[in-house]
Amino acid sequence: MAYLKKTYALVSLDDAAARLREGKGFRRPSIILTIDDGYRDNYTLAYPIIRKYGLPVTIYLTAGKIGGEQGLWIDEVEHALRNTECTVFSLERFLGKEALDISTHGGKKAAEKRLYAALRKKGSRERRDALQELFSVLGVPGPSVSARERIMMNWDEVREMSEWGVAFGAHTVSHPFLPAMPPDEARQEILDSKRVIEEKTEKTVRHFAVPNGKSDDFTPELAEFCKEAGFDTVVTTEPGTIRGSSDPYALPRILPPPPTYYFACEIARHLFRRTP
Ligand SMILES: [Zn+2]
Repeated sequence: MAYLKKTYALVSLDDAAARLREGKGFRRPSIILTIDDGYRDNYTLAYPIIRKYGLPVTIYLTAGKIGGEQGLWIDEVEHALRNTECTVFSLERFLGKEALDISTHGGKKAAEKRLYAALRKKGSRERRDALQELFSVLGVPGPSVSARERIMMNWDEVREMSEWGVAFGAHTVSHPFLPAMPPDEARQEILDSKRVIEEKTEKTVRHFAVPNGKSDDFTPELAEFCKEAGFDTVVTTEPGTIRGSSDPYALPRILPPPPTYYFACEIARHLFRRTP
C-alpha cells in the first residue's frame, strides 16, 4: 500500500464513478482499492493499514454472513478438509467415481479446487446438500461452527470502519451463483444486501460486486437491475483496467498477487499495456 500510494493516484470508487458518468478518463495512472466478502481480517489486518495511509477503500460485504459464525461455503469446504481424519474420499454425486487423495496438504488444496469447480454453479439448495454430504463423508461434525473462531467481520467492526470513511458495497446476502436462481430471488439477494448495509451503516450503498465475478456469474438483465436499483457501479473479477469509456456496470479488476515486486509488475503490466 505504501508503494501504491507513492506511485499512483489512489481514487475512491465514488470519484471514479463520477468520472465515468461524465465519460472522463483518469489524468494520471490511478488505482481504485476494493476488497470482497467481509472477512474479519479486513478489520484486524487491513484496517490499520488503511488508516495509516489514509486509503480510499471500498469493501463489499456478503451481508448475510456479517456478524455470523459461518464463512462462505468455500470456507466450509476448507474447514471439512482441514479437520477430517480421512486420507481419501469420494463424493460420487458431485465429483464422479474418482477417489481423491487428501493425505497431504497439496492433496487437500487440489480437492478444494475440484469441489469449488464442481459446486460453484450449483443452486443454493443443491450446494447445501453437497456440503452436508461432504461433512458426513469426511466424518466432520457440522457444518456446526460453534467451536470455530469467527472469520467474518461483525457489524460493530463495519460501523467503526464506515465512520472512519471506509466505503461499503453490496455483495449479495449469501454469495450465491446468481444465474442459477429464479430472477426474483437473484434480484432479492442483491437488493437485500444493499438494504441491510444501508440500515447498519446509515449510508447509501452505491456499489455492487458480483459473487465470484466471472462473466458467467452475472447476466445483462441483472446488470440492468443494478442500475435501476440505484447502484453507480458493478465490479467483476474479469481482469482489465478502466477507461473513461468503460461500462460502469461491468468494471474489470486485477488481483495482484504477492510478493510486492510481482504485485508492482502486475499492476504496471495492466496499466501501461498498449491497446491495439
Ligand atoms: Zn466474493
